[in-house]
Amino acid sequence: MSTPLTAKQEQALHLLQTVFGYPAFRSQQAQIVDHVVNGGDALVLMPTGGGKSLCYQIPALIRQGVGIVVSPLIALMQDQVDALAEVGVRAAFLNSTQSFEEAMRIERLMRAGELDLVYIAPERLMTQRCLELLSVTPLALFAIDEAHCVSQWGHDFRPEYIKLSVLHERFPDVPRIALTATADQQTRDEIIHRLQLENALQFVSSFDRPNIRYQIVEKANGKKQLLDFIQAQHSGDAGIVYCLSRKKVEEMAEFLNENGITALPYHAGMEQSERYRNQARFLREDGIVMTATIAFGMGIDKPDVRFVAHLDLPKSIEGYYQETGRAGRDGATANAWMAYGLQDVVQQRRMIDESEANEAYKRILGAKLDAMLGLCETLNCRRVHILDYFGQQSEACGNCDTCLSPPISFDGSVAAQKILSTIYRVDQRFAAGHVIDVIRGIDTDRVKQWRHDQLSTYGIGSDKSEAEWRALLRQMIALGLVAVDYENFSSLKLTEDSRAVLRGEAKVQLRQYKKAEKAVKHKRQSAKDFAEANLDDLEQKIFERLRWWRVETAKAHNTAAFIIFHDSTLREIAKAKPRTLEDLRGVTGVGAKKLESYGEELVGLIAEFL
Ligand code: ADP
Ligand code: ZN
Repeated sequence: MSTPLTAKQEQALHLLQTVFGYPAFRSQQAQIVDHVVNGGDALVLMPTGGGKSLCYQIPALIRQGVGIVVSPLIALMQDQVDALAEVGVRAAFLNSTQSFEEAMRIERLMRAGELDLVYIAPERLMTQRCLELLSVTPLALFAIDEAHCVSQWGHDFRPEYIKLSVLHERFPDVPRIALTATADQQTRDEIIHRLQLENALQFVSSFDRPNIRYQIVEKANGKKQLLDFIQAQHSGDAGIVYCLSRKKVEEMAEFLNENGITALPYHAGMEQSERYRNQARFLREDGIVMTATIAFGMGIDKPDVRFVAHLDLPKSIEGYYQETGRAGRDGATANAWMAYGLQDVVQQRRMIDESEANEAYKRILGAKLDAMLGLCETLNCRRVHILDYFGQQSEACGNCDTCLSPPISFDGSVAAQKILSTIYRVDQRFAAGHVIDVIRGIDTDRVKQWRHDQLSTYGIGSDKSEAEWRALLRQMIALGLVAVDYENFSSLKLTEDSRAVLRGEAKVQLRQYKKAEKAVKHKRQSAKDFAEANLDDLEQKIFERLRWWRVETAKAHNTAAFIIFHDSTLREIAKAKPRTLEDLRGVTGVGAKKLESYGEELVGLIAEFL
C-alpha cells in the first residue's frame, strides 16, 4: 500500500496534471520536487531528456516568490519563456539581448513577486545591480542549470559559474537545486565543492537512454557514408551532424544541400546573427539537419531530433554522450551514428600533444580520449560500456551495433607482429601509409628509394587490403601498442608494451575488420514511420491535419512548433479523436492553459473528420 500524499505533494501532482498536462511524475521527479518544495538543496543528475526542468518549475510555482534559473544559454531563454507562457506560467528572462526598458519592467515585476520564474545568465547574475535586485525580491529558489559548467576539467567550463557560491552565502535560506546531465564522479564532486552543496541531497537517475541506438562504423569515405545513412534511415528527419573544424562544418552543409538534404552550418566563427538565425530555423522548422561544431547544442531541447551523427571522434565519452543525448528526447526511436577511423585517433592524439595545456591536464585529456577509444574498439555492448563509464551496471542492450551484429574478435598477435616488425625495420621513421605499403608489398617510388622492398617484411601482408591494415593499426594505436610521433611527420614508433608482443610473450585480441556496409533501407525508423506504424488511415489523416494546424499556429505565435504541442501529443489526439473539451483534457501534454487556448479549435478540427 502506498502512503497517502501530503498536501504539498497533492498540490505538485495537481500542477503537473493541470498546468503541464502530464498524468504522472517520471522516475525521481516527485521526490526531487517534494524535497525542494520543503526548502532542501538538491543535486540532480539526469540524462538529457530525462525531465529536469519540471524539478524546479513546479517547486517555483508552489513556493512563495520568484524562482531564479541560472542558465548559460542566452539564445534559448526566449524559447523557454515562450514554452512556459504557453502553459500559463509567468516567466521572463534578464539578459543582454533585451532593451533597458524591458529589463526595468521585468525587475519591477520581480520585486513585486509577480513572476514565477526568471532566467538569468550567470554573468548578469553576478553584477552588483542584480544581486541587489535579488535582495529585495521574494525568492522561491535558485535553480542552477547545466551545473557541470563549474568544472574546470569539463568541456563546457564557464568561469562565472565558479562565483555562484555567492548565492549560498548571500541567500542562505533560499533552496538551491543544481542540475546536469554530466555525471562522472569527478564532475559531481566539483559541483558539490564549488557550489557548496555539501548538504544537498543527491538524486542520480539512470543514465540510460534506451530509445537511442548506438552505432560506430569504420570510416571509409565519411561524407558518403553519412549521406547513405541519412538517405536510408532519416529522410525528412531533423538531425545534428558534428564535425571537428569550422571548415568541415561548412563543407558538410554544402555537400548535404547539394544532395537534397536541407542542412545549415553552425560554428563559433560565424556571425552571431547568422548563428542565431540557423539555430532558430533548426528549432522551428521540421526536418532540418544542423552541421555543427560542438559549440552547438547545449540546452537545445528540440524533442524530435531523430539522429546525431559524428564525423569526427569526440574527445571524451562525456562529450559523446552529451552530444548524442540530444537525439530522441521525445522518447521515440533515434540513432546515434559515428564513423571513425585511423586518422581520427592520430588527429586527436596530436591535438592533445600540441595543446598549450600543462602536463597534468594533458594526462587527463589523454585518459579521456583513451576511454573514448575504448568505446569505439569494444567487442561488447556499447551501452554497457557507456553506462559502466558513468558507474552504472547494465546488461547487453540489444539496441546497439555490437549487440545487433556482434563483431568477431580474433587473435591478432601475428598481424600485430607484422606491423611492429615493419615499423622497427623502417627505423621508426615512417608514417602509417608507408608502413602499410611495405607490409602489403607495394612498390611505390618511396619504397624503392629507401630500398624497403629488400626488407624481410616486404609483402608479408599482401593478403589484406589497405583498409584492413589501417583498421588493425588503428586498434594498436588505441591500445597503446604503437605510438605516433607528431613532431616527426607522424612517424610510427614502438612502445614499452609493443616489445612483449614482438617477442611473442603477449597476445593481442583484435576486432575483425568489417567492410563498411551500405546502410539498409528497411531499417527505417524515422518519426514519421513511428507515427504511421501506430495510427490507422483516418488517424494518420487527422495527425497530418493537426501538424499542419500546428505549423500555422506556431507561425502566428512566432514560436516553435514543438512549443505548441509535441508530435506525441498530436498523435494521441489523433487516436483519441476528442469530441468535447472534456475528452481532450485527458490527453498527455494538454494542460489547462492549452486547453483554453486551443481546445475549441482542435475539437472543431477533429469534428470535420468524424
Ligand atoms: P532535460 O532538461 O532533463 O533534458 P526536459 O525537462 O526538457 O529534460 O524534459 C524532456 C521532455 O520530457 C520534455 O518534453 C518534457 O515536457 C517531458 N517530460 C518531463 N517530465 C514529464 C512527465 N512527468 N511526463 C511526461 N513528459 C514529461
Ligand atoms: Zn548493446
